Amino acid sequence: MALDYAAKAQLVSRIPRTHARQAVVEQLLSLLRSGAYGPGDRLPPEPELMRLTGVGRSTIREAIRGLASMQLVEVQPGRGTFVSSGSSQSLDDPKMLLLLSDRQAVVDLIEARTLIEPHIARLAAERATTEDVAAIGAALAAQVSASDHAAWREAHLAFHEALARATHNLVLTRMWSSVATFLRNSPLISPAQPSTWDSVGRALHERIYETIAAQDVAAAVAAMDEHIADMMGFLGRSPGGKTDSPEG
Ligand SMILES: [Zn+2]
Repeated sequence: MALDYAAKAQLVSRIPRTHARQAVVEQLLSLLRSGAYGPGDRLPPEPELMRLTGVGRSTIREAIRGLASMQLVEVQPGRGTFVSSGSSQSLDDPKMLLLLSDRQAVVDLIEARTLIEPHIARLAAERATTEDVAAIGAALAAQVSASDHAAWREAHLAFHEALARATHNLVLTRMWSSVATFLRNSPLISPAQPSTWDSVGRALHERIYETIAAQDVAAAVAAMDEHIADMMGFLGRSPGGKTDSPEG
């Protein structure tokens, strides 16, 4: 039997907004890198960028926010967006910039987290001291009480860093620091909404904390596996108000 209209319509999938955002970020980066826009120059205003690129206002804003988070541009309310004076230094590291603006790098990032974080959870459950558990718990409490996304993000990074430290493995701790650099700086991981943390995300972090505190190794690994799987889901998740960035 042929599919009816409604079922067929379900076959049409959403085109990720991230693609447009990434394209805008990359284009602006290349204009900065080529020197077409130098320190102190004002970028075209929002409506002009919308007209020139053909993308919507929110996408332009996210792209600008991404560049601002990398301190390449400075948004001056009421005046416009200006190329930062230190931008040429940051631009000296094109490899880093390319990495930070490349969607593939986000997939690479999750792959790396898939490899190291269950192991971090295992060792943390085996080795965490009372102080380690307290540090993990404090970061969790800070996440729960964060009033905005910036505060949540810092608390979240502190949570995972405390986990890494609890392994008492210096190399794993350093590896986590590299992951954190991406989570902190990638323009692709800058959700517009502060509500990054849904009830599932919160429950998973609580479970990771509780299982490590209880030194329940298998349960800690299982909780972390679920956390990673939940993040993976962001990559293929369709609309519904959620960010498409795997920040978790
Ligand atoms: Zn997390």
